[in-house]
Amino acid sequence: AELEALLDTRIRSIPDWPVPGVVFRDITPLLADPAGIPAVVEGIATALTAAGVHGADLVAGVEARGFILGAPLAVGLGVGFVPVRKEGKLPGDVHAESYDLEYGQATLEVQVGAVASGHRVVLVDDVLATGGTAAAAVNLLRAAGAEVLALVCLLELPALGGRERLDVPVIALRAV
Ligand code: 5GP
Repeated sequence: AELEALLDTRIRSIPDWPVPGVVFRDITPLLADPAGIPAVVEGIATALTAAGVHGADLVAGVEARGFILGAPLAVGLGVGFVPVRKEGKLPGDVHAESYDLEYGQATLEVQVGAVASGHRVVLVDDVLATGGTAAAAVNLLRAAGAEVLALVCLLELPALGGRERLDVPVIALRAV
């Protein structure tokens, strides 16, 4: 309940951003609260255990807010971190996948060899909306050799149907 109150008070809704008709959920107040990231890391670790997700070898985070959450989560779980980046950012050979966003289009990339074959990966991002981003990230991590254990997010927007587009368990700390 404490974590839910923190998420409810520290995630702002910004109407008509970045385009008219979209309500953007802004997590920057949560990040600015010194209690925010520690509470989220603890909440995710607890939720993973409750969902029976054990034995992760890696955390993968989606650029950019998935990096901010994913690195401290990796520290908390005692595992390494793999970045899922926007196109053109990662050196060397990459797996790439294009997908549709709630607004616009994008390409994500994961380095070839970023994941040891069969390693168990927890994927993290801030918000699950249509699920296009997470679905692309899951595909890329699998292409790199991962077993994706779950997607964890702070906020799920269930009306956009993201969960239905994914074939991994979805753990959301809050749904709005
Ligand atoms: P999806 O691909 O599920 O439609 O959109 C999720 C991706 O877009 C995530 O990477 C997330 O960071 C970003 N995103 C979409 N809508 C929002 C939003 O309202 N707030 C935030 N913080 N990110 C969003």
